[in-house]
Amino acid sequence: FEKLIQYKQQMESVSQLAAGFAHELRNPLSVIRGFIQLSTLTNSMDKYYRTILSEIDRMNTILDDFLSLSRKSTKKKGSIPQTIFKSIMPLIHSECLLRNILLKCDIEPSAREINLDESMIKQVLLNILRNSVEAFEEEQENKTFIVQGKTSENAYTLIITDNGPGMEQTVLDQLGKPFFTTKANGTGIGLPMCKKIIKDHHGTFIINSNLGEGTEIIIKLPFI
Ligand code: ADP
Ligand code: MG
Repeated sequence: FEKLIQYKQQMESVSQLAAGFAHELRNPLSVIRGFIQLSTLTNSMDKYYRTILSEIDRMNTILDDFLSLSRKSTKKKGSIPQTIFKSIMPLIHSECLLRNILLKCDIEPSAREINLDESMIKQVLLNILRNSVEAFEEEQENKTFIVQGKTSENAYTLIITDNGPGMEQTVLDQLGKPFFTTKANGTGIGLPMCKKIIKDHHGTFIINSNLGEGTEIIIKLPFI
């Protein structure tokens, strides 16, 4: 009987997941459709390319998110700045540029090599960035996103900060629960996924946030 209840709960979370997934994909799809329709009316595509492209990119990230939930990790030894930041920082940079966010980046070389799954860590950073991007108020000036990397003898620490609106205590209390979201079209999967990935790396994931000041995420990855 307990097994049955467990199974029922699993099915419920699967259907919740599927609903969130469908919802997330439907938004960019309808934007793409709308813009293509508009372009046929006005006979000019130029104006709409950028939006269509970014919506397609968004669909890709949504798919990546969901796939990485089920993917097994493949860890390789490497040094953090070299491996990850070569492939991740350009992405983060262009995203910030597009959205008028000042990017500050200060990454120390790691003292030792580290076992990590590059694409997973990439997902983590992109998810954190996406949350910051989504949290910023349109009209806020001096939007800033900071990525710092510091090494110690036994771990590499990433500190990611935004100066966005921050979170209320009631939100902080529920953070990391699967499917918890404050967004109309959120999935509430981003942070639970980040936590899971960092846990798979035997690391720690801490969120600090102050309302009206911003949010700071500290990820500690041990050299093991
Ligand atoms: P989703 O982004 O789909 O809502 P997440 O798990 O990524 O799911 O985030 C959960 C919630 O945490 C968000 O809905 C938002 O309320 C809050 N949040 C996460 N990051 C930030 C941030 N940088 N600033 C403000 N709120 C945030
Ligand atoms: Mg998110």
